[in-house]
Amino acid sequence: IKERGRGDFRFYQTQMNVDLLARMKIDHAMREALVDQRFRLVYQPQVDLRTGRLIGAEALIRWSDEVLGEMLPAQFIPIAEETGFIVSLGAWVLREAIRQGEIWQAEGIDIMMSVNVSAVQFHQANFVDSLAKSLSSSGLPPNRLELELTESILIQNVEETQLRLDALVDLGVRLAIDDFGTGYSSLAYLKRFPIHKLKIDRSFVQDIPDDESDAAIATAVINLARSLNLRAIAEGVENETQRRFLLDAGCDEYQGYLCSPPVEPADFVVLVSKLGLS
Ligand code: C2E
Ligand code: CA
Ligand code: CA
Ligand code: CA
Repeated sequence: IKERGRGDFRFYQTQMNVDLLARMKIDHAMREALVDQRFRLVYQPQVDLRTGRLIGAEALIRWSDEVLGEMLPAQFIPIAEETGFIVSLGAWVLREAIRQGEIWQAEGIDIMMSVNVSAVQFHQANFVDSLAKSLSSSGLPPNRLELELTESILIQNVEETQLRLDALVDLGVRLAIDDFGTGYSSLAYLKRFPIHKLKIDRSFVQDIPDDESDAAIATAVINLARSLNLRAIAEGVENETQRRFLLDAGCDEYQGYLCSPPVEPADFVVLVSKLGLS
């Protein structure tokens, strides 16, 4: 910036203010949207890589705003994390996913409900307690709830994180590491923390098998999972070649457009009867 002279610097400042204003606007709109119930969850099937049968569903948030239009998580989750609004939003996501999971259980759809949890949300003092309350007042068995945690969660306050993860596992909740390998991977925490599943990020899956390093990384993660007795799931599987490769590599589950994009609850029920339960 310095090299560019004053004019450019002013431009840069203005640009920053515009960004800030836009972010404040989105933050404000999100708070209204939560009150007005304009957030909803869509569900993407997680299936057995071999049989294609249904194992679980990942809940993914959606927001259609009257003014801003259809907003994707990438456009608002980072802002919610920055402003702290993710604490309220994340609590809503958990309650809503548990509610939906309970409905499906009552309909005989016995699947795993996977929910994304942000670092700010996870590190809230009452995170475990409020989750325990939501679970105990619901008909969703705790072992049918899976939290998708990012590596960034696990490297903060290691002692406290350990206590929290142990408490969650005591509740019966399952734990998955999301976007595995994209963050500050430390293999040490796999030994230390009570993790059940590794999620191979889409970035390692999309160019399989042409990209040799991606193929090698995916294979290594699957082998790591197997030798630690964890399940492995690949995300972003879009074609049969990728599925075949992952199957041969020993991966357990996948989710991706090859099976289905995330869908509304009513359409998910249709998928259930199409795919069958695992
Ligand atoms: P993620 O947890 O890695 O979720 C997977 C993303 O990949 C989702 O994007 C999903 O729609 C997309 N996807 C699934 N299959 C395919 C495929 O075959 N091809 C391609 N190209 N994409 C696929 P989405 O729904 O836009 O979510 C983006 C990210 O936003 C998520 O990444 C997650 O980190 C975050 N997110 C979504 N919902 C929530 C939430 O309720 N709470 C929190 N904290 N984060 C959320
Ligand atoms: Ca996820
Ligand atoms: Ca993620
Ligand atoms: Ca991912």
